[in-house]
Amino acid sequence: MERNILLTPGPTMIPQEAREALARPIIHHRTPQFQQNIKDAIAGLQYVFQTKNEIYLLASSGTGAMEAAVCNLLSPGDKAITVEGGKFGERWTELCHAYGANPLVIQVEWGKAVEPKQIKELLDKNKGVKAVFITQIETSTGVLTDIKAVADVVKKTDAVLVVDSVSGLGVNDLKTDAWGVDVVASASHKGFMLPPGLAFISVNAKAYKLIEQSKNRRYYFDLRASKKAFAATDTPFTPAIGIVIGLVESLNLIKKAGLDKWFARQALLAKATREAVKALGLTMYTHPSCLANALTAVNVPQGIDGEKLVKTLRDVHGITMAGGQAELKGKIFRIAHMGCVSEQDILTGISFLERVLGEMNHRFIKGAGVKAAEDVFHTKEIGV
Ligand code: PMP
Repeated sequence: MERNILLTPGPTMIPQEAREALARPIIHHRTPQFQQNIKDAIAGLQYVFQTKNEIYLLASSGTGAMEAAVCNLLSPGDKAITVEGGKFGERWTELCHAYGANPLVIQVEWGKAVEPKQIKELLDKNKGVKAVFITQIETSTGVLTDIKAVADVVKKTDAVLVVDSVSGLGVNDLKTDAWGVDVVASASHKGFMLPPGLAFISVNAKAYKLIEQSKNRRYYFDLRASKKAFAATDTPFTPAIGIVIGLVESLNLIKKAGLDKWFARQALLAKATREAVKALGLTMYTHPSCLANALTAVNVPQGIDGEKLVKTLRDVHGITMAGGQAELKGKIFRIAHMGCVSEQDILTGISFLERVLGEMNHRFIKGAGVKAAEDVFHTKEIGV
């Protein structure tokens, strides 16, 4: 089978160590063997989440963890704040509506991050807000939100802060406990470098109180059942056994490197990609003040068919980048560089990007993108 370099913001490529673990024969989940995997996975997750909180495993994609947050924390009619600066911020609002809550929506210009003072003003004006729902890395736009600054605002109130870090954990720093983040939702197929199908959610004591008070109906995502199972090193339902076993391996890779080195690796890949893109005369969609390590969102230059660019790279050259979502369809393309993407992957991806842009009559100095990326890699070791 032809190799395909996946430079998409989820799923991301899977490292060899995790792929080998995923290929092992299935084991039963109610066994001491699998319990050891749960223990190792939770300890590794607590390291990456930077928390001592309980972390529950859900057999779902990332949206399952988001839904679990909303249906467990809120009751019908509750006020919540949602921050919409892209497709995934909008999902928080949609989930609140689905469970009969009353979201107060902060609209943020796409490509920019929310100002924490906007959240403070809304919290000051609206007493009784139960939760603030926010996205750390808005994958549709490449925006990184300053979660520490947002937490500094929210922790002074009775509201809980719920962060969608589906694209953030293991990619940009998120100090759950030190910053005071009450709930963090994430999933297996981005920074954790695994197939989709496993989601995680961390919950602290402040949030758990709301969970106990919630009058919402819930079943599969009832975190009270998750808590009970957690105490017995178990899950309420059949877990995503294979992915949990793979997770132990990918967490080992992150732990072996150390979080700081791992983040530096992600940042270097991002820098090389951005220098390459600039050298090709392309511009970034995301505001320079809030660039995430996970992906680079690039404006499609005038006269170029953005969808055709992505399709040709994928179908002819085996390089999968992502197009724009929703209103950004055809207007941007996104190069992801999180997880185990390597220097070689970036150089190859940029080289073929140059080839296709050239065929589409975009004007640039041939080789400039690859050289710019190489210059970044030459001056700094990727380290891990
Ligand atoms: N939030 C963010 C920031 C995401 O990037 C994604 C996945 N692209 C999700 C939530 C939803 O995750 P899933 O598609 O796994 O349900």
